[in-house]
Amino acid sequence: MIALVSGGSRGIGKAIVLRLAQDGYDVAFCYRSNEDAAEQLTKEAAEYGTRVTATRCDVSDAAGVRDWYRRTERELGPVDAVVTSAGITKDRPVLLMPEDDWNQVLRTNLDGVYHVCRAAAFSMSKRKAGTIVNLSSVSGIYGNTGQANYAASKAGIIGFTKSLAKECGPRGVRANVVAPGLIDTDMVRDMTEAAVARQLKNVALGRFGRPEEVADLVSFLVSDRAAYITGSVFEIHGGGTF
Ligand code: NDP
Repeated sequence: MIALVSGGSRGIGKAIVLRLAQDGYDVAFCYRSNEDAAEQLTKEAAEYGTRVTATRCDVSDAAGVRDWYRRTERELGPVDAVVTSAGITKDRPVLLMPEDDWNQVLRTNLDGVYHVCRAAAFSMSKRKAGTIVNLSSVSGIYGNTGQANYAASKAGIIGFTKSLAKECGPRGVRANVVAPGLIDTDMVRDMTEAAVARQLKNVALGRFGRPEEVADLVSFLVSDRAAYITGSVFEIHGGGTF
């Protein structure tokens, strides 16, 4: 079994790479710039005895993603499971948000998902098999102050994935969304202490989620145990109200 994970070098993507390697997948992951983290992860994941490849590829670059996908299928074989985890934030209230922050977040988070899924849909539809999980966020469902660009990109991922599931279901391809709340990664480490305290007050379990907990859900969704699940959105937020 072969898996392809975007944004695998850190955080949730890294936990997914490790979990899928543990599940027996050969895994190809990409990252934007953090070579050291990618190299370290390649070694860590290889301990599960599967092949793991790391590629520097900006998901906002359509041609780059196409090349990465083709190279992965040449080197490892046809991809069975795709997970898109690459994502960024550039938080500001709308009134203060420069166009560039809007564009960068939409290009990476939403265009990036489109680029990866388009490559996957071509290949998986031909083989009439495959499964996709796209990482959205509770911000994309409930909105979040200071995150209009991020929330728009993450809401877009939901509409995109539900449409993809309808188009590709008849071709044997499943597509679902995982929408995490606060997960302990570099992304939330950028938040101020006051913002963290404010957010945790609204989480029933009173703590951040762990990347491994999100990876467990993804592992289930890409497996045959989830064979009748497609076009669905799974929130994972410790009982948060947002
Ligand atoms: P991190 O910031 O910890 O890691 C982001 C990963 O994405 C890194 O591997 C980074 O590569 C990669 N990346 C960023 N931009 C690009 C790009 N243009 N092309 C390719 N790779 C890129 O993020 P998280 O693990 O926290 O988040 C993972 C996903 O989960 C994101 O989509 C995020 O929106 C979503 N999410 C996270 C939540 C959280 O609380 N952490 C909550 C809800 C959703 P590099 O290492 O090279 O920078």
